[in-house]
Parts: sequence; C-alpha cells; structure tokens
Amino acid sequence: MKNSEIADVFDQLADVLEFKGEMVFKVNSYRKAARTLRDTSEDIAVVAAENRLANLPGIGKSTAEKIQEYLKTGKIKKYEEERKGLSDELISMLQIPGMGPKSLALIHSRLKIDTFAALEDAIHSGRLAELPGMGEKKGENILKGIQLLREASKRIPLGVALPIAEQVLDEVRKFKSVRRAELAGSLRRMRETIGDIDILASASDHKKAIEAFAALPQVKRVLAAGTTKASVIVQGNQQIDLRVVDEECFGAALQYFTGSKEHNIKLRDIAKGLGLKINEYGVFRGDKKVGGKEEKEIYEAIGLQWMPPEIREDRGEIEAAKEGSLPALVTSKQIKGDLHVHSNFSDGRATLEQLAEQAEALGYKYIAVTDHSQSLKIARGLTPERVEQKGKEIQKINSKLKSLKLLLGTELDILGDGGLDYPDKLLEKFDWVVASIHSGFKQPREKITRRITSAMENPFVDCIAHPTGRLIGQRSPYEVDVEELLAVAAKTGTAIEINANYDRLDLDDIWCKRAKELGVKLAIGTDAHHLDHMNMIRLGVAVARRGWLEATDILNTLPLKKLRQKR
Ligand SMILES: [Zn+2]
Ligand SMILES: [Zn+2]
Repeated sequence: MKNSEIADVFDQLADVLEFKGEMVFKVNSYRKAARTLRDTSEDIAVVAAENRLANLPGIGKSTAEKIQEYLKTGKIKKYEEERKGLSDELISMLQIPGMGPKSLALIHSRLKIDTFAALEDAIHSGRLAELPGMGEKKGENILKGIQLLREASKRIPLGVALPIAEQVLDEVRKFKSVRRAELAGSLRRMRETIGDIDILASASDHKKAIEAFAALPQVKRVLAAGTTKASVIVQGNQQIDLRVVDEECFGAALQYFTGSKEHNIKLRDIAKGLGLKINEYGVFRGDKKVGGKEEKEIYEAIGLQWMPPEIREDRGEIEAAKEGSLPALVTSKQIKGDLHVHSNFSDGRATLEQLAEQAEALGYKYIAVTDHSQSLKIARGLTPERVEQKGKEIQKINSKLKSLKLLLGTELDILGDGGLDYPDKLLEKFDWVVASIHSGFKQPREKITRRITSAMENPFVDCIAHPTGRLIGQRSPYEVDVEELLAVAAKTGTAIEINANYDRLDLDDIWCKRAKELGVKLAIGTDAHHLDHMNMIRLGVAVARRGWLEATDILNTLPLKKLRQKR
C-alpha cells in the first residue's frame, strides 16, 4: 500500500510551503490530505482506480490529481518544484521536533544556516538566542529535538516494523526450499523500536531461498545477496536481512540471533562452567554436538527452562529460569476487552456500532468507549449533555448485543491546576474513567506529579492513561516522578495504563516490571481513534510481557463482572 508513502510527501510539501511562508489554508490542505491517507485503511491505489478519491474527507480535486500523479510516476511535480534550491539537509531539518518551519525559515534567512552542524554551533555560541522570539530555552528544545531525531532515524517503532516484517515472513515461509522461518533479533523480542528486521530460515537449498527472497515484489533494492545471507530494502526504506541455515542448526541460530547480547553472554558463561560451548550452530561438548535443532535444547543443555524472547534482556530471567520461577506471561488470547477507545462522539472516526462490531470480531467481552471530556475542545470533548446522550445510545446498542458490552467511559482531562474536567456527580455515572494529561507538559516535576496523584485520589478515576506522555522518537516524557505515581497507585488502587498505540507504549516495559513489584494493576488500552488501531492491542501485550506481567496483573483479563467489582 502506498498510503503512508504519499502521506509523507504531502506532509513534506506542507513543511516546505510553510517554510516558504505560503498561506496557511494551502499548507493545511496538504496536512489534512496526509492525515486522511494515513487514516484510510483501504488501499489508496484501489480507491483511485475506482475514482473514489474525492469521496475521502480533505481530498479536493487538486490533491486527488497529485495522488493519481504519484501512483503513476512515483513523484509529485509540485513538491519537486517547491523544494528546488533547498538542500536535502535543510529540508530534513524540518523534521526536528520542536523546531517548526517558521523558526527554521528565520534561522535560515538570518544566520544562513543549512546544516545540522551549523545549527548546533549557533545554539552553543548563543547566536540563535539573539534572534527575535528565540531565546535560550528554544535553543535547548531544538537541541533535544535533534537528539530525538537522531535516535528515531536509526530505529523504527515496533508497530511500523512488525506488519512489514510479518508480510515478508509469510512470503518466505511459502518458498519451496524453506522448511522453517521466524523473525529474530530485537523484533522477536518485541522491543519498542527496531533497527533492522531480521528473518531466519532453514532451507534445503540455501541459494534458492536467497534468490527467491531477493526476487520478492516487496523488495525495492538488493544491498547484498550471498550464499547464506541477503540484505534488501523494502518500502519505507526499511532494511530486511534474511539468514539461511541448515535445519539441524535452526534452534541454535534462532536462539543466537534473537539475543539480546547481554542475555547470550550470560548463557555462554554458564555453558563454559559446565564444560559446554554454545554458538549459532549448536551446543557442543568438545567436538560432539549435543543439541541445536530446537531452541529449547540450548536452554535445557545448561539446566534452564526455555523462556519467551520478550524477557531475554538479562533482567533476572536467567536466575528465575534456574529456580524454575519464570512468570507465566500474559497472552493476547487472555485479553477480554479494550479499555481505551474513542468514538465519533469525540475525535474518533468510528461510530459506537462500528466499534461494537470490531470488538466482537476481536472476540472481546467489553470495550470502554472513553471519549474526551469537555475542556479538550480540539478533540471535541463531550459536554455533560452529550455524555447523557451517549449513555442512552450505548444502552440501546447494548440491549441488542449478545456477548459484548459497551462501557460508558471517558478520558477525563486532568486540568492544568490539577482539577478534574467533570464533577463527581457526573463521574459516578461512568462505567470506566481514564484520567490523563493533555496540557501543561512544561510544568515542573512536582506539579505534574501532583496533578496526576490527586486525580488518583478521586474514587471515580479507574486508571491513569499514557502516564508519562512520551511519543517515541518525537516527544520526551513530561517531567513526572513515575516511582511516586506507582506508589500512590498502589495505595489508591488506581490502575495504570499500558497505552498500546505504537507511538506511545506508555507505561513502558521497565516501569511495568516495577509496577508489578509494587502491586499496581495495569490496564491495556489501544487509544484507538480508528477501527484499525484496535489491532494494536498486541503491542500493549508485548510491552506487558517484556515487563514480566502475568494475566493477574492486568485488569482487562478479567471477566466484566469481576472488572466491575474492582471499581
Ligand atoms: Zn489522551
Ligand atoms: Zn485517548
């Protein structure tokens, strides 16, 4: 699908136009088109072929033509023309979080800066701070933004990598020469960001497998293709490496290439102590191979239980495996509902009926429809009257549903002064209340922490959503004392969310483990604003698993009756 590719070009075009001081409505029209493209689950090429582009929100005649042009030629002439005379590096500086096209235009015209190095230099030397409207604080923010951008450009979010990888993995499994194939590396461990995608396969004929891989339609460019390994670039400039091994070594290679490095170093040390050697080909005593076809043989050879890839980070899993006390990690199948979704009552795209339909398709027993509260006007937050209307509609829909219940929920805004956006007498009418911060991100640590903990003290608040506010690769967490949040949550019995949106994954794995130690319950929510987003629940489950969480640690493994008793 070319949807996100074209959306990127529209966004870049909007950036360039804004940089050049073009009129706001023109800039916004491209941004709107980009958003629509990203939100459309249908393949845009199909929509275009059937002449339905104009039916999409935010797509006018001229943007529709540009989409057609890109589908035909792989380019948009308007973008190529507008960016003429601007260097690639200058254009990529538009991606710095916290910079903005207007600031960059000012910096470019006044200081003649068009490289990252020159920009950093101007900030350090204080020249940037002298520009109108800049100041030292802005300079610091830009430096932080450059740092985030550097990290992000090296790694891509799990939620982006996973679908690309699984699609290619499916193809590899269909090759005639291939017996088994699995994802490896940090992707198999479900880390929140991924470097390159690694696929491992066993094959009767290595060369044939490599050739078939390089010839896949997804492949845009072949970087290298040898006798056992190939590296290719697929859409989105993502690199995928395929390694082919003999069937007898598959388990050992899978263990070896899954990592993590720290985990594997420890395993090899244990093996050495037992007079064994572990490598990518197997487990050996002297020259004799004692295992390696299956991954579990590696662990068993050194007296350990096999363990799920998500916890192979040398965070105590090897010691736990030795004692036989590994956690029984939560699985996607155990999740009975989604506790954070938005409907078109606020800023979601789907109707209540559509959400119910999707939830049934996912096999859920309940979903909490947590639309925004009244202060969040940009997200069409609900007035008390609209809440009442929504409650009635939910009742009507629920009366027709068999195995599913929609829960009347809200994503309650925690206001800048720590107050809550609805009074208690309205809050008590909800089935599920998640409270969260959407403003005042720059407040000092004590203040933000206090805002959240005072929300926890309200008996009607069930859960704190996206507790640190970070956006992976785009925005650092706001200053918040997470240890304090967890301590208070343990006392008040408030759940903490694992927001499963791939940009957020908030709370993260490390804090999840700490939450469990403190006896805090977690709730997984996708924060879906679109039906497709509900599938991201698996990313939340992955974070939970990486945080050693079991079904009993997670509220949405409970049947509805038990969940209600928790309130
Ligand atoms: Zn939110
Ligand atoms: Zn939300």
